[in-house]
Amino acid sequence: MVPSLFAVMHAENLTTLELRYRWRRDLLTLSSAREWGEDVEWSRYGRDFSYRDPLMEDVRCLGNAETRDLFRKHGAQGYLGRVVGLLREGRHEGIRCFFHRGRDIRVAYNMHSSTLGIRNGNHAIRAGGIRRHAPGEGELDVLVDGLNLARAMSFKNAAAQVPFGGSKITVQSEPVDLGDTDAVAFLAYCLDRTRSVTGPDMGLSPGLADAMKDGGFSWNITGGPRGRLGPTGDPTAHGVYAALEEAARHRWGNPSLAGRTIVVQGAGAVGRPLVENHLGGTGATILVADLDPVPVAALVEKFPGRVKGIPVEGALLVEADILVPCAAGGVFDDGTIPNLRCEMIFGAANNQLKATSLEEEMRLAGLLADRGILFQVDWVHNAGGVIAGMEEYLRGDQASRERVLANTERVCREGTRQNLEAARREGITPTEMAYRHYSEQIFG
Ligand code: NAD
Repeated sequence: MVPSLFAVMHAENLTTLELRYRWRRDLLTLSSAREWGEDVEWSRYGRDFSYRDPLMEDVRCLGNAETRDLFRKHGAQGYLGRVVGLLREGRHEGIRCFFHRGRDIRVAYNMHSSTLGIRNGNHAIRAGGIRRHAPGEGELDVLVDGLNLARAMSFKNAAAQVPFGGSKITVQSEPVDLGDTDAVAFLAYCLDRTRSVTGPDMGLSPGLADAMKDGGFSWNITGGPRGRLGPTGDPTAHGVYAALEEAARHRWGNPSLAGRTIVVQGAGAVGRPLVENHLGGTGATILVADLDPVPVAALVEKFPGRVKGIPVEGALLVEADILVPCAAGGVFDDGTIPNLRCEMIFGAANNQLKATSLEEEMRLAGLLADRGILFQVDWVHNAGGVIAGMEEYLRGDQASRERVLANTERVCREGTRQNLEAARREGITPTEMAYRHYSEQIFG
């Protein structure tokens, strides 16, 4: 057996596993359980049963010592140690796993901090997206991604001034068909148990939010096409563009991007509107790379001569004034940074630095600064989506697009300007400045 959290759950016929970590004391407790059988009709979730109800009589609950014994029994102690090492490095609150055995759907709820949400008076105390990974990916890579994103969400929520801690849900499964009520309802059940509010991220379509609501499964999700404010890609693009103008002003003394060459990696929910509604009209040359040729072709057609498609391979190493990563994170590390040929990096992608701790992020940010590349950690300026999501969650029918855009301007444009200026004054990188500014709120 390749050691993994879900492999132990699978071998022991468990449905839930929790690692709770208290970083101030380096205290870890484990618990696990078999809480449901194969016969649960998930599509009845929200009608016949709630997330608080027991689902079977013959429930099996294991405490700390017994759960640790299971990892020993299956030769997964070393693996568990690596996962706990990640919690320690990031100062996380823990991970909660939910397993749909019949469909092999593996849900991990990665909890970073609840500090800012604990007294907010809502069901959800943390906020962060829900992202899908393919079944073939290594579990540790999925956990690293989820934990890093959860940590970034704590800071993003603080920067966006929304009263929620940070978390991220990762789902490892085959693509989720929105008509598949068994899968959609199971995800809604897990979501409700997390006490988080989420929005669909990479690997899941925005329609998941509508499917959960239409089915009567969960209301702790925002950003559906038929939601009050629609998908979050637009406001995110708005904030990234505002930050880009501020970065240009900081670097070149002028916010105009005319005549610049800009590489955009990823033309999805954020990258496409960023080019379509903002960059395409600036007079810059835009080089777009996406695994999917369709959105690239649409942008080339809309902005002939201005937008060009480039190969995905090596896109971030192309010579350009600005790189705008809008696809997966973890793209800048010791291997790529020495080969970059740009003056600044400002994109929407979460966790662009390949790091599992604040310290490592600051080291990589230092390498970028040494190369003369202007960069600030992404959560300062990709907060438009969470601002929109929280507006929809907290205000429902009263949610206002105007307020979202005004808050996004304030958080992303003014936040970027202040952060870049403060970093220059202090003689540190903008990434270190941002972490310095918000760490106190989160870690105390
Ligand atoms: P998306 O899935 O809609 O789009 C991602 C696009 O990137 C897809 O078109 C995909 O084909 C492409 N892609 C994937 N790997 C690529 C590669 N190696 N090279 C080139 N293209 C590649 O996702 P999205 O919602 O646009 O999010 C993009 C990034 O921004 C993610 O990192 C996400 O976490 C982050 N983000 C999104 C939001 C939001 O509101 N959607 C908010 C904040 C941050």
